[in-house]
Amino acid sequence: MTTATEQTAARTSLPATMTAARAHAGKAEMTFEQVPVPEIGAGEVLVEVRAVGVSRGLVSVLVFTDMIKLLPATVGHEIAGTIAAVGPAVDDLAVGDRVHVYPPLGCGACEGCARGQESDCPEFAMIGYALFQPAGLRRYERYHHGGMAEYVRVPAGNVDRLPAAVSYEAGAKLTTAAVSWRAVATARGDGGVTGSGARTLIVTGAAGANGSIAVAAAPMHGFDKVIAVANRRAGLDRLAERYPHVTATIATKELPEKWQRTGGLTAALQQAAPDSAHALVDFTPLGGDIPQQAIKALARNARAVLVAGNPASIQVDYLDIMARGRTLTTAADPSRDDVRTVAAAVGDGRLALDPLVTHRYALADLNTAISTVLGRKGQPVLVVVQPRETPADGIPNHGERSSA
Ligand SMILES: [Zn+2]
Repeated sequence: MTTATEQTAARTSLPATMTAARAHAGKAEMTFEQVPVPEIGAGEVLVEVRAVGVSRGLVSVLVFTDMIKLLPATVGHEIAGTIAAVGPAVDDLAVGDRVHVYPPLGCGACEGCARGQESDCPEFAMIGYALFQPAGLRRYERYHHGGMAEYVRVPAGNVDRLPAAVSYEAGAKLTTAAVSWRAVATARGDGGVTGSGARTLIVTGAAGANGSIAVAAAPMHGFDKVIAVANRRAGLDRLAERYPHVTATIATKELPEKWQRTGGLTAALQQAAPDSAHALVDFTPLGGDIPQQAIKALARNARAVLVAGNPASIQVDYLDIMARGRTLTTAADPSRDDVRTVAAAVGDGRLALDPLVTHRYALADLNTAISTVLGRKGQPVLVVVQPRETPADGIPNHGERSSA
């Protein structure tokens, strides 16, 4: 148990103000402002942010929706750092602990929260991200300011210690990685795909963050071959060089003209996997042609897991479902346990996220980071911002920063 005196002592070394990147209503650009370092209360901790992710999901919500409420706000839900202060009634975390933040917020009392799946909670919101259910406003109000700042206030219950071998950058991406992890696990099927022998997984949208992590995680779920599909060649070549289990890559830009109408992707996939692929994980952000044609290339009794939040319509043949026994499904949001499983896998080296970090920026360069993610400049996979120029522990941030 930390006493109030200890908390005051911890806080005395903290500055009164900090730099935060703020989103304003109707403005596409972030502004950089000096704001008070958040006060913390019972059951809360203050995290000195060492890495915060810039994801396509966050950028899309920010630029294209009004789901981020209570503007101006500090966004950023993929957070890792060190504990800078602990509030009263927090007995399992201490100043200096290396941690990552689990961003979902829920009521803590319903059946969804009991399963660690706050997205099923009637009060679902996310730290530094969006309000999904109006009933979640009370918690969102307290925690809507996220990690694009030097410090962030979070509930102690949303914080897990980072395994020693996990970098802050990988730590910031653990919940995102758990989305891919859950998708591949779902593609494999809870009871395991029937039969044994070689298993081939198609990953579409493979060059992006979630697609790349799905490719990396495939062998851990019993897939020994991956066919990676993306629009352009560059990101695919990087995957094929890194992962020996990537046995074929297909860039749709290289398919015969009018492939959308002629089934060119289905043909290319069937050529790449003559015995047909056993499952599909689709992370195609826009357009129905890729998932639609990938589904057609699957083997009997195969599973297609659609997880990109793609707004397109797709057409499916009745007989594909009925006669070939194909299953079209999605994956549940990852639970807290999934995130902890992924943290352990990153910690013991089974899943390497650091090689997928392609871009690092200072907080002052956040607007550049956002345009990198939106425009896919330089084939970004995992993009992080490092808010502190001089971390309190004096240990430099990992890796070279990208030029702004
Ligand atoms: Zn709940």
